[in-house]
Amino acid sequence: MRLSRYFLPVLKDTPAEATIVSHRLMLRAGMIKQASAGIYSWLPLGYKVLQNIEKIVHEEQVRAGHVPMLMPTIQSADLWRESGRYDDYGQEMLRIKDRHGRDMLFGPTNEELITDIFRSSVSSYKDLPLTLYHIQWKFRDEVRPRFGVMRGREFLMKDGYNFDLTKEDALHSYNRHLVSYLRTYERMGLQAIPMRADGGPIGGDYTHEFLVLADTGESEVFYDSAITDLSFGDRALDYDDHAACQAVLEEFTSRYARTDETHDEAAFADVPEDRRRSARGIEVGQIFYFGTKYSEAMGATVQGPDGKPVPVHMGSHGIGVSRLLGAIIEASHDDNGIIWPEGVTPFHCGIVNLRQGDEATDKASEALYKSLVAHGMEPLYDDRDERAGAKFATMDLIGLPWRITVGPRGLKNGVVELTNRRTGVSEEMAPEQAVEKVA
Ligand code: ATP
Ligand code: MG
Ligand code: MG
Ligand code: MG
Repeated sequence: MRLSRYFLPVLKDTPAEATIVSHRLMLRAGMIKQASAGIYSWLPLGYKVLQNIEKIVHEEQVRAGHVPMLMPTIQSADLWRESGRYDDYGQEMLRIKDRHGRDMLFGPTNEELITDIFRSSVSSYKDLPLTLYHIQWKFRDEVRPRFGVMRGREFLMKDGYNFDLTKEDALHSYNRHLVSYLRTYERMGLQAIPMRADGGPIGGDYTHEFLVLADTGESEVFYDSAITDLSFGDRALDYDDHAACQAVLEEFTSRYARTDETHDEAAFADVPEDRRRSARGIEVGQIFYFGTKYSEAMGATVQGPDGKPVPVHMGSHGIGVSRLLGAIIEASHDDNGIIWPEGVTPFHCGIVNLRQGDEATDKASEALYKSLVAHGMEPLYDDRDERAGAKFATMDLIGLPWRITVGPRGLKNGVVELTNRRTGVSEEMAPEQAVEKVA
């Protein structure tokens, strides 16, 4: 992409309404624009990162054996009356009437809709286990939308639903989700810690929230610092192997790590004092096993091996796809701007031409561009007629992992400058060498 032909409306001044760094940087880098409270347009740069995050989520869900689909944003109130949640959900639900006076709503989540789909087409235990998921916009009329996309009213969520014959199978689905989430967040360069959370009216031990530690997080968390040494890495794991998934769950949940809702001072006191931490965290996902709550209320049964109908065991599992942009920036930035982890960066590399219009630098920049593309990368070439300082500031703000600077002086010696955004280290080298290093 050539910057002169792109749409990157960067802001010079810090917008007053943004109180946390990720919100400020997303506005300043021209990634989002507020349409109304808690509702955003995704400008090209923001949209690109959003798509990269979606792609990782899809890949890891499919790897775990989960099946992608797409349900609508607008739902009929009737299904929610069946589950009893139409009245329970309260003011967070955006309720709409269509022209015939029928009650509709903008979905805040999809348990009812998916249970309806399931019950109308699955009738035998032989079709289980099954996990369906989608990535779709949700609407929750939050009391206080704030922090940009972190707490929007309209937001993008991946929500998945497992259907199993027995509790044991459903708990395997739970474990599988936990593992797939660990992989998902790590690929985005994030450490998201599974913490024991509150099941709300569902209760029980079977819910974990995934939290990214950050001072600006809205959740209060308590944990054993030893947990931050854990990482899933690139282990090979067979998602059908119950024992292996259970072992990962145990590894990642045996240390004390809880949100304030389930925090237990007595249990926390058992953690060695020098490892006890209390901090703030951003909830980037949550997994649930809730048994037969919806299947019983909505008649989602299958014929068991003995021919008798049994309600299926279910769980639901969410990832805050749009919130993740904010969480990643909170975790990875400096005074000059964003520092994208490689896995989600909107462009792999920036090219800064220090003297636009100069035949030698123009030609060398174009050649670099082509070479990066030939190596399968997507560069962003700043070909505008701007001062070097302004070009550097833009590149630092939008946070691409690498920058290649092409100037007349270097070219005389056959070199360009390669700069790493995270370390700030610059090195001179031949253009081909820079391409190799970035690739
Ligand atoms: P929160 O506690 O932040 O209100 P939640 O527990 O109500 O979130 P869930 O129902 O667990 O949310 O939804 C799954 C995920 O969707 C959350 O873990 C979070 O990452 C994301 N999410 C929830 N509400 C919002 C929102 N208003 N804006 C952006 N993302 C959200
Ligand atoms: Mg909420
Ligand atoms: Mg929550
Ligand atoms: Mg939650």
